[in-house]
Amino acid sequence: MIAKNQVFELEITGQTHDGLGVGRKDSMAVFVQGSIAGERVMAKVIKVLKNYAVARIEAFIEMSPDRIEPFCPVYKRCGGCSLQHMSYERTLKFKRQAVMDNLERIGGLSGIQVNPVIGMEAPRRYRNKAQYPVGMGEKGPIAGFFAPRSHEIIESEECGIQHPVSDLAKNIILEFMKTNSIAAYDEKTHNGLIRHVVTKVGFATGEVMVIIVSTSPDIPKKGRLVSLLKEKLPGLKSIILNINNKPGNVVMGSKNITLYGKDAIEDRLGGLTFEISPLSFYQINPAQTLVLYEKAMEYAGLTGEETVFDLYCGIGTISLFAARKAKRVIGVESVTEAVEAARRNAEKNSIANAEFFCGNAEDVVPELYSQGIKADVVIVDPPRKGCDEVLLKTLIEMAPDRIIYVSCNPSTLARDMKVLHGSGYIAKEVQPVDMFPWTSHVECVTLMSRVKD
Ligand code: SAH
Repeated sequence: MIAKNQVFELEITGQTHDGLGVGRKDSMAVFVQGSIAGERVMAKVIKVLKNYAVARIEAFIEMSPDRIEPFCPVYKRCGGCSLQHMSYERTLKFKRQAVMDNLERIGGLSGIQVNPVIGMEAPRRYRNKAQYPVGMGEKGPIAGFFAPRSHEIIESEECGIQHPVSDLAKNIILEFMKTNSIAAYDEKTHNGLIRHVVTKVGFATGEVMVIIVSTSPDIPKKGRLVSLLKEKLPGLKSIILNINNKPGNVVMGSKNITLYGKDAIEDRLGGLTFEISPLSFYQINPAQTLVLYEKAMEYAGLTGEETVFDLYCGIGTISLFAARKAKRVIGVESVTEAVEAARRNAEKNSIANAEFFCGNAEDVVPELYSQGIKADVVIVDPPRKGCDEVLLKTLIEMAPDRIIYVSCNPSTLARDMKVLHGSGYIAKEVQPVDMFPWTSHVECVTLMSRVKD
């Protein structure tokens, strides 16, 4: 039996999809944070549960040649990244393996080719959106990132995956709070004001939006804060006060007050201009988004004759990429604000062959289909939980020639691919793209073609 505080030699034989190393001792799985498959370590048990144990590395017996020094000083405590102890190359191999494992175990799809992950040349400072939780520390307000599976705030001056202007905005607001004794929100007592600092940066345009999430609009010396940000933040085009006074984990509330500048900023991607507003979704790694969308367009193989459905379309980014090459594009999205932005984006880019519907894809698509509106090519890009069964069923009936599945979660991708595979579609290959370097997340795009009968 394994006991707490026990120390033993452990060979790390595998890696969970979160990046934890795992070995076996007395037929029990032992998870070791920060270890790499292939390593041998002296492991000290910190927790024993019914079916598994958790240990930490006491010492290395054999280190992986792929082990590197993490570039972030708070890497070990912060919950943001989980793979910084591996070389970038190794993280890409790890992600590819995770995709293959999911396809095989969940999808029962072993013959599908999973291409090597397309990585970034310089995988740093890639995020265009930062979300810093703010709380009360021992000596006043603090901001940073949550520790893994916790709401403990790990302070950090700088974050190596955020745009530097995001760190700067956060530091200015924190300094302002300290100087003016403005209380951070306390999750336990539900007292205090500032909950989060959120930033959005247009990488191509240089435009910056700062969103201050507060329980109340009455922030003392608000005007002073606005002048400070205006004075010190390059590219600042918008300051939004977002009101969120509900307890819980949702970061932003629905009410936005523009304190300075525009209600939305702009970014450019692949020759198109997009409006970025406080609440709507926009991919967080613009360099890799372009790679992802271009792959999706290659798979779509558009000639100018097709009707394309872009489901889960957000602010219409993929829709507008497709509209340049298709006859007609229909985007479907559940968030009203995003649909409105998608319509404005189409107009901004003088695109007249894209229209947008607000609603759940699983409701809108059956409705369109019943009216005789069909797609030749369907692109889906669902959130982590994947596509609704009703949607998949309708797509199978509608029988488009190609379904391009963009996924941020290989397990639901595998589940949904299994359904399509059993119903007249085959996938030739899956292309993972590294949208989230140093984290365990992996994005995939795949082409499912209808088998002609
Ligand atoms: N394709 C877009 C957005 C992808 S994120 C892009 O690349 O930017 C997924 C989007 O799906 C989000 O905008 C979310 O609001 C939306 N969404 C979530 N559930 C949905 C549903 N059932 N039907 C339609 N849209 C949904």
